[in-house]
Order: sequence, then C-alpha cells, then structure tokens
Amino acid sequence: MGFLRFGLKSCVQYRQLHLLRNQAYINGQWVKAGSNVVFPVQNPADDCVIAEVPDMDASDAKNAIQAAANTFETWKNTTAKERSHILRRWFNLCEKNTDELAKIITAESGKPLNEARGEVAYGNSFLEWFADTARHINGEIIPSPWPNKQILLTRQPLGVVSVITPWNFPFAMITRKVGALMAAGCTCVIKPSEDTPLSALAAAELAEQAGVPTGIINVITTSRKNAPSVGKVMCEDHSVRCISFTGSTQVGKTLYGLAANGVKRVALELGGNAPFIVFPSADIEHALDQAMLAKFRNNGQACIGANRFLIHEDIYDKFVKGFKSRIAQKCILGPGTKEGVTCGPLINTQQANKVSGLVEDAISKGAKALVGGKFAAELGSKYYESTLLINVKQSMSIFTEEIFGPVATCLKISSEDEALKIANSTRSGLAAYVFTKDLGQAFRMSNKLEFGMVAINDGIISAAEPAFGGIKESGIGREGSRHGAEEYTDLKYTLMSCLDK
Ligand code: NAP
Repeated sequence: MGFLRFGLKSCVQYRQLHLLRNQAYINGQWVKAGSNVVFPVQNPADDCVIAEVPDMDASDAKNAIQAAANTFETWKNTTAKERSHILRRWFNLCEKNTDELAKIITAESGKPLNEARGEVAYGNSFLEWFADTARHINGEIIPSPWPNKQILLTRQPLGVVSVITPWNFPFAMITRKVGALMAAGCTCVIKPSEDTPLSALAAAELAEQAGVPTGIINVITTSRKNAPSVGKVMCEDHSVRCISFTGSTQVGKTLYGLAANGVKRVALELGGNAPFIVFPSADIEHALDQAMLAKFRNNGQACIGANRFLIHEDIYDKFVKGFKSRIAQKCILGPGTKEGVTCGPLINTQQANKVSGLVEDAISKGAKALVGGKFAAELGSKYYESTLLINVKQSMSIFTEEIFGPVATCLKISSEDEALKIANSTRSGLAAYVFTKDLGQAFRMSNKLEFGMVAINDGIISAAEPAFGGIKESGIGREGSRHGAEEYTDLKYTLMSCLDK
C-alpha cells in the first residue's frame, strides 16, 4: 500500500466510500499536483490513513485561478434563473447522498455520524437557500435630483473568489460560501484544510454530477507546509477579486494583509469567544439543555461554541450542579462511527495539546475541574474528557482565548452590568447567548452585547436564513441571508441621461 511510505496504517473500509476522491479538481479535470507529491489524510479517531491527496503548490494554485478566471467570462453572463437551477440540482444530489457525505465527514473530522448528517443538512440548506436567492439579487432605481435623468444601481458579480476553509465543518463551510458566490455569478478556487480535504472533493464530485459547468468550482488540496505559499497566490493573483476565508483570527489577519496589496474584497469569518449568560429569571433546565448544545456540539470545536459561562450568583450552584451531571451522563466519548457516541476525538495533536495546556494552566492558577480535566488516553491520543471548570478567573488564558475544545468554564456574576462588562471584555465579537425571561433585559442585552449575533434563550443560532458573522476581530462580512450573496457583488451606478430626447 502507498500509505506505508508515510509509516502509517491504511484501512480497507474506506474503499467502500463511493464519493471518496484522491485527486484535486481543476477545470473539470481530476488532477495530480504538478510536483506529483501527495500527503495522507488521517482519521483522528485511530490515525488510519483514509486516502492520500495531491500536495499542491503555488503553480497549481495559479492554474486553478486561471481556470476560474476563464470560466467567469461565460458564467457571469448566465441568467439568475439558470444559476438557480444549477444550484438546485447540486442541492438535490447532496441531499440524496447525505449518508455518504456524512461518512466522509466523520472519517476525516472525527465527529459523530449523527452530527455529520446534521452538518450535511446544514451545509445543504445554503445550497437550497442560494438557489432561491440567486433570483432575488436585485438592483435599485433611485429618483434622481436632476430632470430627465435616472439613477440605476445594479449588482454585478465580483469575479474569481479564493475560498479558504477550516476543518471543523468541512462541508458546510464550503457550501455557505460557494452557494452564495455562484448565485451571484462568481467562480472560485477552494483550498480546504490539510486535515479535511475529502469532504471538499466529495462536494466537487457531486457538483460535477449535478452539471455545474467546468471551471466554476476548482478544489486544490495542500499540506499545511504549502498553505502559506498557496494562500499568498490565492490572495495576490490579479485575477482574484475576493478572498473568502473562514478560520482563525491569526491567519485571517495575514490574509487580510495580503489582500490589501490588490485592494481586494475580503469576507472573513474568524474566531470567537462566546459568553453564555444566565440570569435568575431564566428557565434553568432549558438553559442547561441549551448549554450542552452550545458547548459540546462538535466536541467544542465550533467558532460560535460557548466559551465563557457567566452565571448569576442566585442560581450559580444550581446551574453548576445540573451542568456537571449532564456532562457526566450525556458526553459519551469514542469514535464517531460508534453508536451512542456524542463526542469524538479532537482534530489533531496540536489542537488536543492546546486544549490540555489551557486546562492545566487554569488548574495551576486555582481553577477546579468538577468533571473531566484530562485526556481519555485509553481511547487514543486525541480524546479529551468533556470538562467543567469552576473557580475560573478572568485573567486566565482559558477565559481570554478561544478554547475550541470540550471545556466549559464557569464564572459567578452578580449583576447585568457586570455580565455585560465581562462579556464584552474580549477582542472577539462573534456570538453571545443570554438566558432570561425579562423582556426588557433581553432587549438591553441584545443591544449592548458587542457581538455580531445574539441568541436569547437558545443555544443554536446558525441557519441559512439569518446573516451569520462577527464584529471586532471576529470578522468582516456576512454569510447566509440575502446579504451573503451580495458580499460577492459590486454595486454599479449607471446614470441614464437625456431621457426625453
Ligand atoms: P486556521 O488554522 O486559520 O485554518 C483555516 C484555513 O486556513 C485552513 O484551510 C488552513 O490550512 C488555512 N491556512 C492556514 N494558514 C494559512 C496561510 N498562511 N495562508 C493560507 N491559508 C492558510 O483555522 P482552523 O484551525 O482550521 O479552524 C479553527 C478556527 O476557525 C477557529 O478560530 C474558529 O473559530 C474559526 N472558525 C470560524 C468560523 C466562523 O464562521 N466565524 C467558522 C468555523 C471556524 P491548514 O488547515 O492546512 O493549515
């Protein structure tokens, strides 16, 4: 087996996955890297190699951008109705192949199969939404201040979009962008994470089967080593008009800087540090159920995952007791393919060590783990126990940094003002959660929380219909809603004069 050259285990069961592709996709062709180099994609549950894929470099990226640029010349002239129908066909095929897509997502990301199916449904909802939205990307006619003249504002597609996506939602983070940009009339080059290129390739395979014209979607796979050089080309090539990135704030800032050279549009969905605030009037049992979803979905590896639990002192003990028993009972660790498992492994060793390091640091400074607080080493090297920390202080790294793992940190608050002050004391501004039955308080919190998205009495906030995105260092731009498609358009002003003659 080829995988032996990496000194890794290969697994035969993956051969049954009919959407598994081991080549990149450029201009409608399944291709190798120009260098012929490959890298292995491993299952984080057991380190088995699922496939090896091309390790593309800057010259491969240029080829893909050229293909997208050539295709843009025809795609931009298609009607909204045509684009809508093509997106609808892609949606239908993805829906039909939900189980196959989910198996690939679970294999490469480690998340439980049920959650992977949920990701496919979520990711697909964007294809369906943008199939509809394509026909409603409207312009405006504005009464002019001059006689015999009219002001027209029309929306035109930007051009080639460089799409760079993370490993935590390897399918949905692609459809959320590509559905929108295709609806707008753009073409793209996608660079998925080294950890999860197979979901992206499977999505491209289904796009091909759905009849998405050649060159609109191009997928280049790269190892982490090549990501900076490939990313540079994707940000700086003159044919690229927009960089649409989802990932860490640190990498987002680098790409923002590179895009500045060419004054390119950026759409940045970056990291979060979500507060989860519970006031005494809240339905505590409901808040606890939602806390489990907001914290432990995808094993805590979600940008909108609740990071800081700010619990009012009147209900603190009750909340912590309920949280502890729910975590102990409901977080079942294991491989994502095993029935009943709710929390899989963390994505890679670096991520696992980061989570463990943050917990150790907090404990060394006085925090206490009521449940969890260590690796589940008997399961493998990337499994970390679902953890609840109390006695957490605002100065601890676990409180100021995005944990991106299965660790909940609790802090006691005594007033609304204090909750707001602590919640807003971060450079991130993605999502916030508030639990209260006091309507005035709900509106005040929504108004004063410095976050792009606020959920009142709910732990799940994402859908295709609302505008998803952050403020402050959590990003620029919105995904989903009609705004998501408009991100990929330029507003053109045409003055129509001499209308009377
Ligand atoms: P990441 O390290 O920033 O990576 C994101 C993507 O960028 C990956 O494809 C990565 O490739 C690539 N990349 C890394 N360095 C690059 C460079 N110099 N040039 C070009 N591309 C580069 O983030 P991650 O660890 O995958 O994902 C976790 C982060 O994403 C968290 O901070 C999370 O909050 C954020 N996130 C945000 C949202 C949102 O909607 N706001 C949604 C999901 C995740 P490799 O993986 O191969 O290095």
